[in-house]
Amino acid sequence: MNVSTLARQDVAALPLYSADTAPCAVDVSDNTNLWGTSPAVLDAVAALGASEISRYPALYSESLRDTVAAYLGIQNDDVGAVVGCGSDNVLDSAMRAFAERGDSIAFCDPTFSMIPVFARLNGLELVRLSLHENFDVDAERLVAAHAKLTYLCTPNNPTATTISRAAVEYVCEHASGVVIIDEAYAEFADDSFVDLANRHEHVLVTRTCSKAFGMAGLRAGYGVGARTLTRLVERARGPYTLNIAAEAAMRAAFSERGLEWMRSRRDDALQSRILLRDALRARALEPLESHANFVCVPLASAAETARGLRERGALVRALGGLPTDIPAFANSAGSALRIGVGPVAAMDTVLAAYDEVRACA
Ligand SMILES: *Cc1c(COP(=O)(O)O)cnc(C)c1O
Repeated sequence: MNVSTLARQDVAALPLYSADTAPCAVDVSDNTNLWGTSPAVLDAVAALGASEISRYPALYSESLRDTVAAYLGIQNDDVGAVVGCGSDNVLDSAMRAFAERGDSIAFCDPTFSMIPVFARLNGLELVRLSLHENFDVDAERLVAAHAKLTYLCTPNNPTATTISRAAVEYVCEHASGVVIIDEAYAEFADDSFVDLANRHEHVLVTRTCSKAFGMAGLRAGYGVGARTLTRLVERARGPYTLNIAAEAAMRAAFSERGLEWMRSRRDDALQSRILLRDALRARALEPLESHANFVCVPLASAAETARGLRERGALVRALGGLPTDIPAFANSAGSALRIGVGPVAAMDTVLAAYDEVRACA
């Protein structure tokens, strides 16, 4: 018997997620926090002893729900939070909670690469539209898809651009199903849409501790929305998902000391982002306007440039197959580099490597 013939089709047909993860002197390829994580988080994890580790964690991390709500300034008793093993886990659970096999999820390309993966694992059909040339979403067409789920990502990965408030509000007001607003990079942006989770029963806003809080390795994320909605996501997620280290780390991350660290590294990132943008422009590149801790640089030679950068100790993400009906990507044959924003020394390494690559071209 060949066991692969027994596998679910969605699973057997899905390619494994692959990224270049071999060690490199400076790795700015995955939008994580290049300043590390808060000492408050490190202390909390180090303080765990056998009495905690040998026991099961809380079923649904009940005590963290209020911590999260307080961080987001939510005072409405009808609005609650759900935590998960990374916000990936919250997104995946939301799909299972609200869409049956064969239902569809609508979104605008390019966006977070895990969305099609989780959608297919949950047996969902993809309705892919393109972002507008100004990187906003086409709210009317998204709504017209009548999808069971609509996914918006703002600031968007991999473009670092934001969706206009008018478009987000239009989708929330008119969508026929649940709307997910992925705010993984909200700490680096000027605006947040958490207020829409307060206003609409069918809106889930997801956030993560992987980026601004520097906890990608611990896998901690969360979503906020109407209590009825977040409880359903929690049901689909299942019990005991957040491990004890992630739970302790999350509590520390949202403590005064943790938040102070996060905000000050966030301010560093905003400064580095300006430096990086100006340095790229000085090299005749045209990075898209970034509202996150990374920049997206349309570049026809992205793949070979990334290879050259890697040989010189700088790992960036090369993107290909981007929609060429977006003018910025038409000019770059659908290719771009995504470069994480980090300490000035790391940015200098990347830029020096780029100068060498260009000198050799
Ligand atoms: C990184 C990222 C996430 C989340 O990741 P987790 O580590 O699973 O919390 C979610 N959405 C987007 C758009 C991201 O870039």
